[in-house]
Amino acid sequence: MTKYKKTGVLADVFDRINSGAELEKPDIESLLSLSGKNELNLLFEKAYEIKLKYVGKKVYLRGLIEFSNICDKNCFYCGIRKDNKKTKRFQMTLQEIVGAGIRAFENHYGSIVLQSGERNNPRFTEFVALAVKKIKEETGGKLGITLCLGEQSEETYQKWFDAGAHRYLLRIETSSENLYKKLHPAGHGFRKRHECLLLLKKIGYQVGTGVMIGLPGQTIANLADDILYFRKLDVDMLGMGPYIVHDDTPIASEIKGYDSKKQLELGLKMIAAARIVLKDVNIASTTALHTLSPDGRKLGLKAGANVIMPNITETKHHADYQLYKGKPCLDESASIYQEQLRKKIESIGETIAFDEWGDPPHFFRKNSKLAL
Ligand code: SAH
Ligand code: SF4
Repeated sequence: MTKYKKTGVLADVFDRINSGAELEKPDIESLLSLSGKNELNLLFEKAYEIKLKYVGKKVYLRGLIEFSNICDKNCFYCGIRKDNKKTKRFQMTLQEIVGAGIRAFENHYGSIVLQSGERNNPRFTEFVALAVKKIKEETGGKLGITLCLGEQSEETYQKWFDAGAHRYLLRIETSSENLYKKLHPAGHGFRKRHECLLLLKKIGYQVGTGVMIGLPGQTIANLADDILYFRKLDVDMLGMGPYIVHDDTPIASEIKGYDSKKQLELGLKMIAAARIVLKDVNIASTTALHTLSPDGRKLGLKAGANVIMPNITETKHHADYQLYKGKPCLDESASIYQEQLRKKIESIGETIAFDEWGDPPHFFRKNSKLAL
């Protein structure tokens, strides 16, 4: 008899998982509602088993370069929103960005992520295209480049793709249009964001999305819908993390009694449920998990994630790139942090895949199916 047989509803859901059935919304809600050490362990163990089967035991690194906090938008939850006058704005120079890319490459990162506030103007478009081209040139085309620069036009996405970026991260933030409306001012439309994801797919990027977890007003049903949204969109990568308060934002006042432990737990449950449903995608164990616990990223790996995004931006910029409170301020390209990370990952029996792009198997499986 398997050990989960004792737990009723859970046993039914696990039977469905083991039989290979597609999980439906009530199944996912059951997984996300689990609590207590034993039940959670069963969930994480099942997600881990599926992770090993589909993506293996290697952890892929993406060196995160947060190159500017200048943003034209005003998302109600984000510390670098345009109207937060307390944030000192910065923009790294082209040389600094290319230098950071080269440093990542020399430190055996297979991939980097270029992230910043959202800007939609030709100067910014050209600047990013040039940065991508130069990094590609300087690293002999060997460093993979992911972009995370918000909503852009099809031409802009195409230009950056042609310059050499091959992955794009654009979180839908929440798949509930109602909740989306409450979290964004007029003019930041849900449909536009969704359509950007479709454009990215059409152009040929490996596409990642994700949501914030534990937002005010968000329900377990919303989170289950988020996972169904990821499945329907057929995404290749996921980057999800717990919502963390930033005091100088409009929604901070709605938060009463923020419970870091619960937020961390919910974040881990979402990773596990997403791994069980989506199977062969890449899932990041994000900085927000690391912010809530020094072991957060390791716990994310144990719950089914297979990607870590160490922050390799120079520390002088960290204080100004505070999307939320308490973001760790380390330049993790330094060998001391790389060594610490390596030890942490080896302590759970996994290894870092240095010098590898670590593309999601899902992208190739999906495309080979399309070619048939
Ligand atoms: N401007 C780009 C990329 C930078 S923001 C964009 O918005 O896509 C990257 C991510 O940070 C956002 O997608 C959002 O999910 C996350 N974020 C912003 N504020 C946050 C907060 N208070 N807590 C947790 N995550 C947050
Ligand atoms: Fe700008 Fe992104 Fe923050 Fe929204 S989440 S305010 S787009 S940086």
